Amino acid sequence: MRNLLNLTNEELQNYFNELGEPRFRVKQVYQGAFQKGYERFDRFTNLSKKLREKLAEDFTLRSFKELERISSPLDGTTKFLWQMADGRKIESVIIYEGKRVTFCISSQVGCALGCTFCATGKMGWLRDLNAGEIVEQVLQMSRQAKSPPTNIVFMGMGEPMLNYDEVMRAAEILSDNEGLNFSRRKITISTSGIIPGIRRMADEERPYRLAISLNAAFQHKREQVMPIAKKYPLPQLMEAAQYYYRKTRKRVTFEYVLIAGFNDSLDDARELVRITRKVPCKINIIPVNSQDDNFPAPSEAKLRQFEQAVQDSVYAVTVRNRKGWDIQAACGMLYATNEAKGKAATHKVDVQTVKMKDERLKMKEKI
Ligand code: SAH
Ligand code: SF4
Repeated sequence: MRNLLNLTNEELQNYFNELGEPRFRVKQVYQGAFQKGYERFDRFTNLSKKLREKLAEDFTLRSFKELERISSPLDGTTKFLWQMADGRKIESVIIYEGKRVTFCISSQVGCALGCTFCATGKMGWLRDLNAGEIVEQVLQMSRQAKSPPTNIVFMGMGEPMLNYDEVMRAAEILSDNEGLNFSRRKITISTSGIIPGIRRMADEERPYRLAISLNAAFQHKREQVMPIAKKYPLPQLMEAAQYYYRKTRKRVTFEYVLIAGFNDSLDDARELVRITRKVPCKINIIPVNSQDDNFPAPSEAKLRQFEQAVQDSVYAVTVRNRKGWDIQAACGMLYATNEAKGKAATHKVDVQTVKMKDERLKMKEKI
């Protein structure tokens, strides 16, 4: 059955047109589904019983089952693992930072790009999400969050630019002024540097924010951890970022995952400043969060030193400490543990998994 959340305003209009229903039905349904968060059609009491039944025959409003939820006692960060209608699983996260409530959502099941530090990358690509599945993450979390989202970021599982059409359709649905009416400027699309996607977003003058995961400022280092860097090298990537700014006049956010002993030297910081200088931007430094010993997190001192070195020269630098990410929170990690649990009965559980499970148990005890 079709998911109503997968329909843009225009698509829903066409549906009602065919039924001979007036235009304002869209508004009624959109309000119920997105503003009031109704999960069943019998709650739409402003529609006739007959129409409610017809809608219930043609559409669903929810298709996810919550498999796991894990909250950080430190800052309330809450991570969800959902099972979709076909059994595939995805993650989403709510991050609380002062007044900001950020919903971090997935765009694909897994990811084809295989960045070495990323748990999602290890899964490979399983499938793309449709817009309805992207939108449902937001609605499901809205029901659970302490307050409504102030920001929505495509920083969960997957590479949004490789599922461009559905990601843009989802963003459109979320920001439709008859529905959730979420501010377009508060939606951020994060890419590992897919140049055609960046240029397309600029050419189409999409009103959303763009984030680019640099993670290394030297081409050879970037290639080492992000295989996609070979296809889209840094000089061209930075040109695309400049192009995006010229077209949209919107500052780009560069994300930089800091890995101890790999990209955290002063030399790295200087190079990061040098290559981003021509692009009005904000830089987010994210300490790596990994169970893999190959990717140790930087010490607090190193982190501050790196931040300081970048700070003086760039428009704005923030350190995303993501304290709550103590709950094995970089995306893909909860998925990995859940999968391992499922397999434990028949397969040997490796040391890494056991360690992760222990930490989760400890966390549950604290809660
Ligand atoms: N594919 C897109 C969006 C999803 S990844 C992209 O790469 O931008 C979202 C962010 O999480 C990226 O900046 C990525 O570099 C970061 N990330 C991935 N694994 C991480 C980890 N183990 N620790 C910290 N950040 C990580
Ligand atoms: Fe994919 Fe982003 Fe993870 Fe790289 S960091 S593997 S692009 S999800």
